[in-house]
Amino acid sequence: MSSFYTVTRDDFESWWLGQGMALGAQKRIQSALVTGTLREVPTFHPEVSKIALNNLKNSFDFTLPKIFEKRVAEDGTIKYLFELTDGLKIESVAISFHKKYTICLSTQAGCGMACTFCFTGTQGLKRNLEPHEIIGQYIAVWRDLKVMKNHKVTPNIVFMGQGEPLHNFDHLKTAIEYLCSTPGISLGPRQITISTVGYLPGLMRWEELPPVNLAVSLHSPFEIERSRLIPMNKAYSIEKILEVLSGFSWGRRKVINFEYLLLGDLNDSREHAKELSKLINPFPSLVNIIPFNPYPGSPFKRPSTAVVEQFKAWLVEEKVRAMVRVTKGDEILAACGQLANQFK
Ligand code: SF4
Repeated sequence: MSSFYTVTRDDFESWWLGQGMALGAQKRIQSALVTGTLREVPTFHPEVSKIALNNLKNSFDFTLPKIFEKRVAEDGTIKYLFELTDGLKIESVAISFHKKYTICLSTQAGCGMACTFCFTGTQGLKRNLEPHEIIGQYIAVWRDLKVMKNHKVTPNIVFMGQGEPLHNFDHLKTAIEYLCSTPGISLGPRQITISTVGYLPGLMRWEELPPVNLAVSLHSPFEIERSRLIPMNKAYSIEKILEVLSGFSWGRRKVINFEYLLLGDLNDSREHAKELSKLINPFPSLVNIIPFNPYPGSPFKRPSTAVVEQFKAWLVEEKVRAMVRVTKGDEILAACGQLANQFK
């Protein structure tokens, strides 16, 4: 039985017409079932026949990923650990910013990219998430935010949880198309950001996606050093990534976000800032400096606030637009993969 949370607006219209129902109420029914205004298919509805309601209930699976554990940080960040039907656990994080939430979603269980600074990277790839598991995280978290915070507006999305999103390109694409077009959600592509380490087979298909925002994790401007941090760089180097990016038209997408994880005493020198600026200044870009959030046993350390500010100042000197991303929810293990590891 297919999941209700992958049925597009058009597919649902076709199904509806197949039930002998006139178009009209299907949009409201789909919206109510997706947003949770209706928690289940009702046995009676003034605009829908009893047979159609019964068929609706029996034609689709309405199961969402189960919230296995939830932690709330003092700054409002909420971390969710979901259990999938096969027992695997994945994470989502709801981050509040100016009274609006952004939900960080996972696209894979584990990750095959093996980045040396990332907790999930130490786990290996378990499997790709199905589209309904990606969409299901969003719906489940949003419903919970409505209950906990009376948060009714549609949260934004960053694909920055477990997994390399572009390594699960087809399912990611299906999920984004659903989230942008389904009654009750209808996100604007600009409300969605995909964060990638530059997995080239996926990046080369970038223009197949709706015009969502792109964030590329560079973390070092030097190939050898970046390969130590992101082993995938040996196959898909900085040079190749930038070459692919330069082949796209960025008119509609205004800026490329370059993520720069600042690791104490490792990639925080003036030389790094200079080289980074040379690489990215040809693009309409913004650098997000992310001070490293250490996890137990991590070989890297957090840079001091003074070092972070100095690095930003060097970038600004080089005419780079840069901002420091505040790390949120530190005390609830909000960095990627840490909560899942506690409940393996
Ligand atoms: S940083 Fe992202 S791509 Fe790298 S191992 Fe972690 S989840 Fe995978």
